[in-house]
Amino acid sequence: MQTTQTPILKDIVLVGAGHSHVGVLRMFGMDPMPGVRLTLITRQVHTPYSGMLPGMIAGLYTHDQAHIDAAPLTRFAQARLYHSEVVGLDLVTKHVICRDRPPVPFDVLSINIGSIPSARQIPGVAEHAIPVKPIDGFFERFEAARARILKREGRARIGVVGGGAGGVELTLSLQRRLARDVADAGFDPSALAFTLITSSDELLPTFPARMRRRFTELLRERRIGVVAGSKAMEVRRDAVLVAGNGPIALDEVFWTTRAAPADWLANTQLALDDEGFIRVSETLQSVSHAFVFAAGDVASIDGHAPPKSGVYAVRSGPPLADNLRRMLLGRRLQPYKPQREALYLISTGERYALGARNGFTIEGPWVWKLKDFIDRRFMAKFNELPQMPLPATGPPPAIADAAALKEISAMAMRCGGCGAKVGANILTRALGAVEPAPREDVVVGLDAPDDAAVVDTGGKRLSVHTVDYFRAIVDDPYTFGKITANHALGDIYAMGAEPQTALAIATVPYGIEAKVEADLAQMMAGANAILRDAGCALVGGHTSEGAELSLGFAVNGLVDRDTALRKGGLRPGDALVLTKPIGTGSLLAAHMRGKAKARWVMAAIEHMTQSSKAAAQILRAHGATAATDITGFGLLGHIVEMVRAANVDATLALTGVPLLDGLSQTIAAGIFSSLQPQNVRLRRAIRNMDEAAAHPLYPVLFDPQTAGGLLASVPSERAQSCVAALKSAGYASATIVGSVEARSQALAPITVALEETRQPLESAAIPSRQDQREEVVHAHQPVL
Ligand SMILES: Cc1cc2nc3c(=O)[nH]c(=O)nc-3n(C[C@H](O)[C@H](O)[C@H](O)COP(=O)(O)OP(=O)(O)OC[C@H]3O[C@@H](n4cnc5c(N)ncnc54)[C@H](O)[C@@H]3O)c2cc1C
Repeated sequence: MQTTQTPILKDIVLVGAGHSHVGVLRMFGMDPMPGVRLTLITRQVHTPYSGMLPGMIAGLYTHDQAHIDAAPLTRFAQARLYHSEVVGLDLVTKHVICRDRPPVPFDVLSINIGSIPSARQIPGVAEHAIPVKPIDGFFERFEAARARILKREGRARIGVVGGGAGGVELTLSLQRRLARDVADAGFDPSALAFTLITSSDELLPTFPARMRRRFTELLRERRIGVVAGSKAMEVRRDAVLVAGNGPIALDEVFWTTRAAPADWLANTQLALDDEGFIRVSETLQSVSHAFVFAAGDVASIDGHAPPKSGVYAVRSGPPLADNLRRMLLGRRLQPYKPQREALYLISTGERYALGARNGFTIEGPWVWKLKDFIDRRFMAKFNELPQMPLPATGPPPAIADAAALKEISAMAMRCGGCGAKVGANILTRALGAVEPAPREDVVVGLDAPDDAAVVDTGGKRLSVHTVDYFRAIVDDPYTFGKITANHALGDIYAMGAEPQTALAIATVPYGIEAKVEADLAQMMAGANAILRDAGCALVGGHTSEGAELSLGFAVNGLVDRDTALRKGGLRPGDALVLTKPIGTGSLLAAHMRGKAKARWVMAAIEHMTQSSKAAAQILRAHGATAATDITGFGLLGHIVEMVRAANVDATLALTGVPLLDGLSQTIAAGIFSSLQPQNVRLRRAIRNMDEAAAHPLYPVLFDPQTAGGLLASVPSERAQSCVAALKSAGYASATIVGSVEARSQALAPITVALEETRQPLESAAIPSRQDQREEVVHAHQPVL
């Protein structure tokens, strides 16, 4: 997806989207290193910014204001984003071992994975407490606790274990937020009770005395109980057992005690300190493996002991980026000495904060404003990234043809996946003059094109053939392999066939042998994972080097005679069922421009890698008579193909079309696939075109899909149960999007219904097929 003219020579792999790595990515984005490729492997693609986390809990910031989004950031840095969890390292072969994908090779590795709670020895913490660390995932844990508290109508005893800055700030934020939510839900907020438990004799033991005193007063004013000087020994379902104090009855227990390192580090051969954190020198290099760097909570810098806090993780970013660069350039690395003192600003869960530095303390609403300003300025660096230059396509030709030049400049942002397909009209024109050799055994060929060709090889079953090939739509070759294989299988399933064998054709960017091999291995591992699941044997293929990573498959399938689902099998009265949401074209175009949120991209990937095998079986079991897979020509283009082949009309409920998350935002921002304009040419097939074109969701009809869902015609009386079965098989967005009618005299066969409902036709009375049959069937008119 990222195009580069310079072959890749070195791979830097960043593990964890922590506070230091986000800085590294930004710095490499500002000043890329030709020949050096960055890959970020992270468990969560939205990283919470620690400074704003308590404010988000208190309800002062939204999720997106308090999180750094790895998708635009990695796009900006021209880095690859691998959404995965690292579980180990092979430091001999230099591979990162991930939970759910093949090992990832590296030349230089950097680890910034934060920490976990140091409470493993305390019974009951794992089962009953809500750890704030790792901070990724804490928001989800908090939301679950909030839901439980509301379910109890606010009658809840809430405990926070840990009296450091994190624990105190969290307690105050929790109190403000939960009291407000409980009141908003119509319950009495005074039924909420809060207790802070700390093993130190005083709260905030590392802070100036005045700060400690002020927070103690504040907690008292806000009726928050403090149990100090007592260690929590055990967490039970409804209490915390505290040394010398007995059990304290609590319904929810948040755990914010000291940080501990992730368990898997112990098995890596990296030199670790006594607590298990990675020992690094002042250059942030591992003292045992110079090609491994570490920063943030996970690092223990020899000779320094900065607190495990986001401030220090952020500060490590620039020296880490500099030393990674120096290492690859063979230059001397520079030492980083963490500052002794930092300005600490702790909010009180409202727009009020206290601060401390060098023994001095400050407080007031203005301190909160200062903190808010500093935090927002920091986040703006990641949320308002400078405009990325378009990939160079060479100087424009010196001709005075404005239309041609406009087209050429648009080519700089051509989409991958099915967005890279040639438009339907071009294809029809180009193939118009092609006359294939006539053969009796071709059952479905170019004369009546379908999702796949069907050939009679004389056996009991017919042979089904399809081919797909496109350039990468995501930077991760493993995920790209999965998407491509799944996309190719879609045609086989749309024909109601069973996949048999596949041949691969792959293009890998020029590069040194090891890099080419690694990319190819990752891509084919992804593809094969999907093919194996489908029972489709990879039997061969062809590879070549080229400018961009591309992959395709020629897939063969088998189908029983007379059972193939043809596009032309639509019957008046049928319901049109769609199995997956629409939106990959616009979303991936937005991702290419760094304008898509990571969660939208990850959800789109999930849909693109979801097999249509079960969907095809369910559709068939519910009497489907026609099917197609929605791909490059978009929903409308594929419906047009079907109605033309069947000589029928159709109604499509625009507001009932299921959409991928984020699609409404990307189309509202005017971001479309480069194939969209060609698909829009099919609009003449819409009977009420002017009315439909005025609707904000109109562009959805033309959005090209990669590995899209199946669209099938199902007898209307079975459509509801078909959708229910699809939903329970995991196609959560499956829905009825339209109906088939007998051909009318209107030139354009498709009516776009615009009523404002997300499920327009599921509950609507769809005329029975018998009623429809009475209607006159007119000759089909060409629409293209
Ligand atoms: C409630 C609370 C409030 C806090 N408030 C402040 C504050 O105001 N100021 C402050 O300075 N500090 C604060 N801290 C401390 C701060 O959150 C941590 O010190 C800081 O987040 C550590 O940053 P980091 O860069 O080391 O890692 P993190 O920010 O924790 O990031 C780790 C990253 O690594 C990823 N990751 C983890 N494990 C894996 C894996 N195995 N594979 C792949 N990816 C992985 C995660 O998804 C994440 O992206 C607070 C902590 C808490 C709990």
